[in-house]
Amino acid sequence: MKNITIIGGGLVGSLLAIFLAKRGHRVNVFERRPDPRRTNVYAGRSINLVVSHRGWTALKAAGVNEAVERIVVPVYARMTHAPDGTLTRLPYSIDERAIHSVSRAELNKVLLTEAEKLPNVKLHFEHRCTGVHLDTGTCMFHNEATGEASATPADVVFGSDGAGSAVRQELMRTRFTFSQTYIEHDYKEIAFPPNADGTPRMDPHCLHIWPRRWFMMMGLANQDGGFTGTLFMPHEGEFSFDRITDEKDLMRFFEEHFRDAIPMLPDLAEQYFRNPQSNLAIIRCAPWTYGGKVALIGDAAHAIVPFYGEGMNAGYEDCKVLNDLLNVHGDDNWSAVLDAYGKARKPNGDAIADLSMRNFVEMRDLVADPRFILRKKIEGRLQQRHPDKWLPLYSQVKFSDIGYLDAWNEGLRHDRIMEEVLAMPGIEEKWESEEVERKVLGLLEH
Ligand SMILES: Cc1cc2nc3c(=O)[nH]c(=O)nc-3n(C[C@H](O)[C@H](O)[C@H](O)COP(=O)(O)OP(=O)(O)OC[C@H]3O[C@@H](n4cnc5c(N)ncnc54)[C@H](O)[C@@H]3O)c2cc1C
Repeated sequence: MKNITIIGGGLVGSLLAIFLAKRGHRVNVFERRPDPRRTNVYAGRSINLVVSHRGWTALKAAGVNEAVERIVVPVYARMTHAPDGTLTRLPYSIDERAIHSVSRAELNKVLLTEAEKLPNVKLHFEHRCTGVHLDTGTCMFHNEATGEASATPADVVFGSDGAGSAVRQELMRTRFTFSQTYIEHDYKEIAFPPNADGTPRMDPHCLHIWPRRWFMMMGLANQDGGFTGTLFMPHEGEFSFDRITDEKDLMRFFEEHFRDAIPMLPDLAEQYFRNPQSNLAIIRCAPWTYGGKVALIGDAAHAIVPFYGEGMNAGYEDCKVLNDLLNVHGDDNWSAVLDAYGKARKPNGDAIADLSMRNFVEMRDLVADPRFILRKKIEGRLQQRHPDKWLPLYSQVKFSDIGYLDAWNEGLRHDRIMEEVLAMPGIEEKWESEEVERKVLGLLEH
């Protein structure tokens, strides 16, 4: 049994605490912010997110899936909103499998409560980590409420302290590779309230997307009948946040691009000018571990853009893989466990970063493109008829445990095949034919 310090009690740190405590370790979680169950610390941060297969696999392995199932809304399809208001429903999978929308705050609260039920977990709120002795595992803290400084020794330290990780900052003093890339798009959240009678204004079981090539808006249901809308747009340039300086600009912009959303957003201008505009960055780093003492996990190791809705799911998969490796190597051989963990997860962290950027292009651009919709139909048919031979990339990422890197490589192979298929003369008419099917099967053999 080890003394384990977890820095950051957010979405990943709280689940990690449960995994490690259930193995018998003594776990101390230090979280910079106050307890979200007692204060509204989540105000102003992204309101909901999607849990998908990998997330569920980890939640199940930790024995907390049932507590989370109570707070989710299933989402079975994308619903695209064309500029003229035309709606197109695109199921995520042929068998209507769902991803699940959940409130970030509620999820965090549930996991903290589950962690706290375990006698060997101690949660320390308002404790900001200010430094880590990498060789001894001693962490230094600043108490945000009292201003006091303290230090806590540990056998193993996990940095699950998000994109701005203090633990990663400490690793930067060693032979550590790091990159942070901002994308040109920022985001702003705008809430769609429910109708006066509490009913939702759109189908809650769809992820609503307004793809507009250079920018896009999406809407994801909350349990209260409302939706969280997120507008993704460059921060400068022709279509950008910079160009919207007053209510007139805003309404003109919405009239032109998101007209059907206007009646659903009664306080659009107030929200738009009140809510923060946040940026998006991709963080890659290596190595994720230091000896058998320190490891990064979740966004601290691999912050990605949110377009696949996989950041947290990837972090949950990190926890599950770590737990599996403890099963293999035992709970006393942390050098072997952390070494294997870093080797297993780093390539997949890089792959999901690439996949997420790819899905951005797909969401803002391609879902409005008839060729893309045709490709989805062909892929759906292939999957239905040859489930052992064709699993679309989206399903690999969202509905399977296939490693992100393997999914990425398979996705590139699918692109090459589909390019040839979509170039077949008359493909629009014959996409359901034997000829097309034979062509794909032939190309798959190569
Ligand atoms: C707009 C948007 C939408 C998203 N949608 C999805 C989605 O649909 N699905 C999905 O899977 N992912 C999504 N993500 C990604 C997801 O939010 C992150 O991957 C996830 O929050 C990572 O969890 P984490 O615990 O690693 O980090 P965080 O959630 O950032 O938690 C880190 C915690 O550490 C604490 N902390 C930070 N520094 C210190 C310190 N020095 N000392 C002590 N504590 C500290 C913080 O207060 C925080 O509580 C989205 C992200 C964004 C921005």
